[in-house]
Amino acid sequence: MIQKIKGTMDILPEETPLWRHIEGIMREEAEKYGFGEIRTPTFENTELFVRGVGDTTDVVQKEMYTFADREENRSISLRPEGTASVARAIIENGKFSDPMPLKYYYIISCFRHEKPQAGRSREFYQFGTEMFGSQSPASDATSIALANSVLKRLGLTNVKLHLNSIGCKECRPAYRAALVEYFTAHKECLCDTCKTRLEKNPLRLLDCKSPECKKIASGAPKTVDHLCEKCNSNFDTLGKALSAMNIDYEIDTNIVRGLDYYTGTVFEFIAEGIGAQSTVCGGGRYDGLVSSLGGPELSGIGFGMGITRLILALREMGLDNVEAKKPVVYIASLGERAMVKGLEITERLRSLGHFAECDVVGRSLKAQMKYANKIGAAYTLIIGDSEVDAGVAQLRDMQSGEQREVALDSFVI
Ligand code: ATP
Ligand code: MG
Repeated sequence: MIQKIKGTMDILPEETPLWRHIEGIMREEAEKYGFGEIRTPTFENTELFVRGVGDTTDVVQKEMYTFADREENRSISLRPEGTASVARAIIENGKFSDPMPLKYYYIISCFRHEKPQAGRSREFYQFGTEMFGSQSPASDATSIALANSVLKRLGLTNVKLHLNSIGCKECRPAYRAALVEYFTAHKECLCDTCKTRLEKNPLRLLDCKSPECKKIASGAPKTVDHLCEKCNSNFDTLGKALSAMNIDYEIDTNIVRGLDYYTGTVFEFIAEGIGAQSTVCGGGRYDGLVSSLGGPELSGIGFGMGITRLILALREMGLDNVEAKKPVVYIASLGERAMVKGLEITERLRSLGHFAECDVVGRSLKAQMKYANKIGAAYTLIIGDSEVDAGVAQLRDMQSGEQREVALDSFVI
């Protein structure tokens, strides 16, 4: 038997009601906050992610699904995340001449060759938002508030907001120097990847997953102690805005985010009780991204929310029970003429907007009634030859067992 690729998943009709419930809330909230949906291609030129995500990141170095295009001599990659593609799209479509800010959201699948485990897959689903064209902490606050309101509407009270600032290009050099000095003193104990990162991008060392590096990183200088005046005051204003909006947070200096393009505000929403992969949402500011992709200087703030991890968190809280829709009427029939009549009525009910079902298998009447019960139909209508001749049949309320006569040609529910 051919099986699905490791780290991918089939989401079956029993499960999609929960997915649609979650995605529905995401769409409604995003639109309430003035974000419009954007759809970009599933694959892009590899160069976009190398430049947009960063060639010192694990995502680009180890996790991308990259392959040679069939006809042309170029490398393409399945998107490992959504931000770089959106940034490319706004540049390519000249959206930077629109009134600012630009506010976009998407619900997409992303691809990363990671070790599959609970909350980590190779194709994963993400709700993402991007807001371009504002440096004001009001835009950070708005972006965080949107993520928070999605989590709140889902009922996830076991999720906490962790907040940090990693500084801008003004404060980065001094911080970088402090980091290099600190990690150079521990160089011998670092993993091989981190040894090269030390020269290329020392900030990445703070994000290494190796236990030894993690231990060393816990004693490293903190970004918040090296912020320039502007970053400091923005961070302060953001805190005040979040408090005014009734959004709880804690400052967590360990949050640095895995991608290269972040500047200033970074944040994660972390769920309790769902195991090691507990970050349900991660985001931050990326003021250098658009210009690094050949666009104008345009600041940005966004986040990505992992849908599978949300489901784990909902399950942990017992909030994952979203039932599929049930038919209002099931029409049981006996014989060919009754079957045709049943199809006619079912179609009429559907055209009136109802969820109606009828027998399409040719089961016995008894089996049809059992099936109607199983699928949770509110009413059943039983039609045989004599009902077709008389033009009337009994409509049965499956809850109360009560029956009433209805005229087949004019019956609507
Ligand atoms: P992590 O540290 O958990 O690997 P990340 O920093 O790589 O996360 P982002 O690139 O910021 O993650 O993606 C945003 C969100 O998408 C994450 O917070 C997480 O909820 C989800 N996510 C990321 N990678 C995966 C994956 N392989 N499988 C499932 N969900 C994922
Ligand atoms: Mg990751």
